[in-house]
Amino acid sequence: MVVLKRCAAQFPALLLIALGVSIARAQKAPIEITADLTDAPRKLFHADIDFPVSAGPLALISPEWIPGHHMPGGPAAVTSVVFKANGKPLEWRRDDVEMYEYHLTVPPGVTTLHAHVESIAARRVSQRLAALEWEALMLYPAHIPVKDIPIQPSVKVPAGWGIGTALKPVGGGSYPVPAAGAVIRFETTTVEQLEDSPVLTGLYFHEYPLAATISPKHFLDVAADAPEDANLRPAVLAEIANLVREADALYASHHYNEYHFLLTLSDVAGGMGLEHGQSSDNGVGEKGYADDAHQLPEADLLSHEFTHSWNGKYRRPAGLYQPDFATPMHGGLLWVYEGMTQYWGDVLAARSGLKTPDQYKDTVAMVAAELDYTRGRDWRSTEDTAVAASVLRGGNPTWSNWKRGQDYYFEGELLWLDADTLIRKITGNQKSLNEFVKIFLGKGGNTGPLIVTYTFDELVQDLNQVVPYDWAKFLHDRVDRINTRADVAGLEQGGYKLVYRDKPTKSEKMIQAAEGPRGGGIDCWYSIGLRLGADGTIADVLWNGPADKAGLAPGEKLMAVNDKVYSADALREAIREAKDPAKSIRVIVQADSFVSTMQIEYHEGERYPALERVEGTPTYLDDIIKPLTTPEKAPEQKKADTE
Ligand SMILES: [Zn+2]
Repeated sequence: MVVLKRCAAQFPALLLIALGVSIARAQKAPIEITADLTDAPRKLFHADIDFPVSAGPLALISPEWIPGHHMPGGPAAVTSVVFKANGKPLEWRRDDVEMYEYHLTVPPGVTTLHAHVESIAARRVSQRLAALEWEALMLYPAHIPVKDIPIQPSVKVPAGWGIGTALKPVGGGSYPVPAAGAVIRFETTTVEQLEDSPVLTGLYFHEYPLAATISPKHFLDVAADAPEDANLRPAVLAEIANLVREADALYASHHYNEYHFLLTLSDVAGGMGLEHGQSSDNGVGEKGYADDAHQLPEADLLSHEFTHSWNGKYRRPAGLYQPDFATPMHGGLLWVYEGMTQYWGDVLAARSGLKTPDQYKDTVAMVAAELDYTRGRDWRSTEDTAVAASVLRGGNPTWSNWKRGQDYYFEGELLWLDADTLIRKITGNQKSLNEFVKIFLGKGGNTGPLIVTYTFDELVQDLNQVVPYDWAKFLHDRVDRINTRADVAGLEQGGYKLVYRDKPTKSEKMIQAAEGPRGGGIDCWYSIGLRLGADGTIADVLWNGPADKAGLAPGEKLMAVNDKVYSADALREAIREAKDPAKSIRVIVQADSFVSTMQIEYHEGERYPALERVEGTPTYLDDIIKPLTTPEKAPEQKKADTE
């Protein structure tokens, strides 16, 4: 265990000397930054920053490797900057290699350097709300640890917009809805913590306190594009309060002074899930929590990002922590950082009622099937998807089942389910992964925001504390090696097996129908090997599957199926009819500006994944999702119960 207080040693002493006294002074007095979000509806953020300086060379930098993104940012977030000293513009020169770094020379007699920064906000803004991640506006002295740089933040938001953030207002208390032109000042923090403390603001804004009996305090801060969407259903509020209680019981520690779920409901501001130590930045569609069907696709979003406060923020793989935001991160252990978070996010969603037990099992079946049909397993290990995370994120999603994507998330979910059920099997259900996380994520007891790094060896040691086993081999076998089939041992040890049926589960139908990337499309992945959008455009083709063998490619469009104009129903009907070996599936396909006819050879009918109970085996999977606390029911449910 390494507590990261001594990382300054990584910076060459000579470099610090070369940068001169400007930085030494900057470390003592705080930088003052005021973010102006009043132009958020025009998708523009502004900031005024004052740096305490003294004469000499100065290097300022903005963040490149943003924690939680697992990759360098694209073009520097700071769009433009004008420096002034004593009211006069000061010239600067960009570093020739480090594109985020600015070199200046502070003139004699100057003690404050002013910077005016503009940032074009491409995401997380709408006409009615904005979420500020501070890296969009921050500049600070380069080449010194960001945890050692004090900074005092303020924000100015449009008149009448509410504010939610884990930052503490100067003088304590909660955040008032500011009058026009008012600036809200927050207590001095560090550059590291400010980057970790986003601000949500919106016209239709509600702050809901959660689970009042749990200490420290938890809040859900909601901003929506429409007023009715900011009024979350009582059932949803009860489930999120359950999540707070369940996480409290599971992790038995916390590493924040106060926790804020920041949530936007907007079709414009974008989907989002970014973890922070004392908050999380979450974005769903406008109707994302309007009813159960809309809720399901993102049901584990809040539980995933909340879990990151422990797994990822407090405990972080050593290679994923860098003392500045400029040194490249190493993704090797992302199957713990993200993979175990995926596991607990899903389990906590089920324990707190955000997902029903059936929905949990249906979605685990979808995960297992997806991975088992990932043809890229033939050439690439799970570990490599983690190591290569920074180049796998974003980019072209086509042929992703051959290329493999960020599989360390869902591979991790199956891996940690395997570990949980294995511990239960060895100990006769007396112990489980619940005990492991208390040890691994709770070291040092309750703390404020803090980063404590770990290595693979510590992970193994802590697993051995729960139950002795060859955990190093267990992990190496599943993560580092080429495994052509997915790890379904956890399902089997949990009392279930993965099967394929001719109808999708209720959950799969709901997810398919919900608005989203695949909304209204059709999934024939496990039959003919195609995923299509609502208009017949091919989202992806299963490598070496029937459609691939027929010559179809992502981006092409099905225009007709068996002499009928394309529709999802016509395609399903053709798949069913082709169970007769004499029949094949004929399609007319548009590729760029050409049209051709193709024939898909496939005769096994529709296939959709599901879990099936194996009678006579322990039901560990059901045990895993049982709540640890007494669930809170929504007010209207309570009323119904007493009548
Ligand atoms: Zn995550």
